[in-house]
Amino acid sequence: MPEYDALIVGAGFAGLYALHKLRMLGFSCRVLEAGTGVGGTWFWNRYPGARCDVESFSYSYSFSEAIEQEWTWSHRYAMQPEILAYANFVADKLDLRRDISFGTRVTAAGYDESRHGWRIATDTAGEFRAHYVIMATGCLSVPKVPDLPGLENFRGGILHTADWPREGCELAGKRVGIIGTGSSGVQAIPIIAREAGHLTVFQRTPNFSIPAWNGPLPEDQRKAMKAEYPALRSKARNSYAGDYADEYYLTIMAMTPEQREAAFELRWREGGFNYQYAFRDMMDDPQANELAADFVRRKIRAIVSDPITAEALCPKDHPIGSKRLCVDTGYYETFNRPNVTLVDVKADPITGFTASQLTTRDHSFALDTLVLATGFDAMTGALTAFDIRGRAGRRLKDTWQAGAGAYLGIAVAGFPNLFVITGPGSPSVLANVILAIEQHVEWLSELLLHARSHRITEIEAERKAQDDWMADVRASADRTLYPHANSWYLGANVPGKPRVFMPYVDGFKTYEAACEAIAADGYRGFHLLRETEEAA
Ligand code: FAD
Ligand code: NAP
Repeated sequence: MPEYDALIVGAGFAGLYALHKLRMLGFSCRVLEAGTGVGGTWFWNRYPGARCDVESFSYSYSFSEAIEQEWTWSHRYAMQPEILAYANFVADKLDLRRDISFGTRVTAAGYDESRHGWRIATDTAGEFRAHYVIMATGCLSVPKVPDLPGLENFRGGILHTADWPREGCELAGKRVGIIGTGSSGVQAIPIIAREAGHLTVFQRTPNFSIPAWNGPLPEDQRKAMKAEYPALRSKARNSYAGDYADEYYLTIMAMTPEQREAAFELRWREGGFNYQYAFRDMMDDPQANELAADFVRRKIRAIVSDPITAEALCPKDHPIGSKRLCVDTGYYETFNRPNVTLVDVKADPITGFTASQLTTRDHSFALDTLVLATGFDAMTGALTAFDIRGRAGRRLKDTWQAGAGAYLGIAVAGFPNLFVITGPGSPSVLANVILAIEQHVEWLSELLLHARSHRITEIEAERKAQDDWMADVRASADRTLYPHANSWYLGANVPGKPRVFMPYVDGFKTYEAACEAIAADGYRGFHLLRETEEAA
């Protein structure tokens, strides 16, 4: 059976960097990836309109100056094919493919206490052994198909945004329906509307969306950004969101109504996430939040010509930012097109499907193709999708039954020598995820080097340290408006999933400082078993 120092599951940005980093440090490694190529999110999410919502000069690796300088981003927010090309460029440049098994899904992982190592089963490549397992399986990698009544009757095409056919899909002239108006739906809807004969958007909950104002980056701007990389990266590393935009420099409640209006307008015109991060009180103070939300609702009413449609698109049931903001290109404008209809399925619920129709309580809609933009079993889905058994054969799924948690979002008590990149309890999805990944991989590499040089055979999070960490994560979240929405951050989008606020809300910089302090304190909160102790 092949045996490695470390097996890495997943070849998205996390798995690729983990492989490079650990290989450079002399660990023998193999990556197991279910897909047939690198890129993870960007390999699977090929729907029309898919692109990043953190600017590309930020949403990219910072660890290699050569990569930064050789690669050139064409747009402020790159499209999916360009981000996938970037992942492939990195894999080639670092010669990563030779250590990746593609088309190989991990189906089980069990800890062997006598060997202090893991045994991994796969669907196509047999079994492996490894001292360490690194789960680089992604926070948003398990698409969720909702339980729609009678969907099996529908004979038209059914597509999920997160499992879009590689060869693309012909939607020209067709009657297309789309369910889901989160970030994926908001990006796909304007593009599908241009292609389709008719597009019907089935919306359950409207979301707040801020314009991206995306466009090609002029040559001089690209050159200037490349020249400024060290400063931009350092600013991102010292920020809340892991991005280089200026943040938290305005207080909504300290401004006069005129100043406030001008500030919202400016942030709207700048576009993107800084509509949220520019304001220090938006996620703490309900009144400040409501003012920011009201500004966006007024924009929606100004853009969308039909007042009933406009009102239906205005989010009113959650604070702005408590679900991830969408960043769009022409989303609200799309509802002024004559070939687009909005259906409020909260008011008029979906009741079933025939071979060619979706029916709601009051209407029926003839469709050729149904697009599901219905999201993911986020943060834990990839780790509970297969059997992971730790000490005494205990299953991770059972351990997380009352709510997922990991010490620092990296390690789970009872699962020695297993690490999660951007797991529950880390900033992950509330930050620029690529930077969050880099920080985890780098911190973990130091831990593994420490273990190697101190002849440590087993690394395990202590239960108390983990419980205390997750209690702090929850307490911090409870001081904000984040838990005031039925969001996937809480697991609220998956029926039966325990509701625990999973991401760390105190920001990237604070989190990194906490990780560094824990390392400096001899990896406080980890039980490190030395070979000598074991012999004794
Ligand atoms: P992934 O890219 O999800 O890769 C995980 C890999 O693990 C996948 O390839 C999967 O096939 C593999 N895998 C999982 N389970 C198994 C198994 N059992 N066996 C074998 N292989 C397995 N974040 C941002 O910060 N900014 C953005 O602009 C942004 N845009 C996004 C757009 C979309 C459409 C989506 C869905 C997410 C976006 N995200 C964004 C979040 C995004 O997921 C991360 O930025 C990042 O790409 C995650 O990388 P990863 O390597 O951790 O995980
Ligand atoms: P999502 O935010 O979870 O949105 C899913 C949508 O599907 C919601 O509108 C939801 O409505 C709807 N839905 C689910 N089940 C339904 C049902 N049974 N009936 C009707 N509607 C239903 O998922 P997502 O849009 O894929 O985005 C997930 C995350 O991925 C984002 O938050 C972001 O982090 C990342 N992402 C980023 C980008 C980007 O811009 N770069 C693009 C895509 C994804 P309810 O709200 O009512 O549940």
